[in-house]
Amino acid sequence: MSLNRREFLLGSAAACVVPALAGFASEQPLQVNAPRLRQTLEELSVFGRPAGGTFADGVSRVAYSDADVAGRRYVMGLMEASGGKPRVDAAGNILCSRPGEDTSLPTILFGSHIDSVPHGGNFDGDVGSLSSVEILRTLNDRNIRTRHPLQAAIWQNEEGALVGSSIAAGELSASDLQRVSTSGLTFAEGIRKLGGDPNHLDTARIPKGSLRCYLELHIEQGGTLAQQGIPIGVVEGIVSIDDYDVTIRGFANHAGTTPMPERRNALLAAAKLIEAVQEVVTAEPGRQVGTVGHMEVTPNARNVVPGLVKCTVELRDLSAEKIAILGERIEARAQQIAKDTGTQIQFEHVAHDPPATAAPEIQSTIEKAAASLNLKTMRLPSGAGHDAQMMARIAPMGMIFVPSQGGISHSPQELSRWDDIANGANVLLQTILLVDRT
Ligand SMILES: [Zn+2]
Repeated sequence: MSLNRREFLLGSAAACVVPALAGFASEQPLQVNAPRLRQTLEELSVFGRPAGGTFADGVSRVAYSDADVAGRRYVMGLMEASGGKPRVDAAGNILCSRPGEDTSLPTILFGSHIDSVPHGGNFDGDVGSLSSVEILRTLNDRNIRTRHPLQAAIWQNEEGALVGSSIAAGELSASDLQRVSTSGLTFAEGIRKLGGDPNHLDTARIPKGSLRCYLELHIEQGGTLAQQGIPIGVVEGIVSIDDYDVTIRGFANHAGTTPMPERRNALLAAAKLIEAVQEVVTAEPGRQVGTVGHMEVTPNARNVVPGLVKCTVELRDLSAEKIAILGERIEARAQQIAKDTGTQIQFEHVAHDPPATAAPEIQSTIEKAAASLNLKTMRLPSGAGHDAQMMARIAPMGMIFVPSQGGISHSPQELSRWDDIANGANVLLQTILLVDRT
């Protein structure tokens, strides 16, 4: 199908009468109203836009800020305009339900978030959130009934710590509520500001096993799909993360009078460690990544041999076993570096996030949905965290990625093409309809 033909079909989808699911090759599956989806994304972008800026200047819609509250009010207005009855749960999440024909069937839940990082872009979270709303509108416009109840979710404070979805999954402890968010408010204060009730968070819990599945459309945030020209990513899972704190002890001494062979330079050891991380992580095939992203040098003075360095090592991969092995290899290399540089290197494993696997059944359903729209797919892991990883603890989970141009995210330069976004929304819609039939 040529690009022009696809654009024509997306643009005219609202005008033609089509079956919800293509039963025959000649039938065109139901599609969302792509121009309307674009319009709502542009309208949402004004909440948190820098003064005097345009869409291209990005957004600062930090959770619990006034811009966040205004953006949420806009989204709830869209839900109401399409005949929905949105509600705010005790956690501050926005939920909009659509009844199914069979009340005995579990809910198909889908959604994303509309909060952003400071100076973020207009696609991270917004694409999946407003596509979910658009899907409800499309189904209502066409009067299409599903067997399962449907529910769209706008999770609160994804960028902070997956707060809303963690509460829904029962993964946030009472002490976490006192943590201070980027807005300056604690999570508890923020929840109150959004209309939630931090004293009754148990009512926002979604019991394990009670959902048919959870689906999330999101921008890739990396550059793989755009580079390879593939419109739809089928997420295999959200990566496991191991975090280490590393302390390197040398000896601080005069930079003029200490001969080179006698130095115990902690920063030199750190430099060798950074290289060792790079070598160990790239020594074998796969998509694993490793980063030294933070470093403190003491005394950090021009004329002193550095005596102490504290730094971090972070490892990510879908396989928790793989990053555990890489961590061991890096530690072994560090001990050799310590010997060579006359320093002591100490590793502390400070955090482990387990991987969140997408349900194989949902991954193949997403592929079928994309195939019905003549869209190519590839499977890939998500290197970034998402609300979907919390939902994976309680329900079969699936994620759909659309390309991020240049692989840029958490930046005003974040960009996904409008036809890629429409494709993603249509794949989400078709996935919901396919799951509904089974
Ligand atoms: Zn996001």
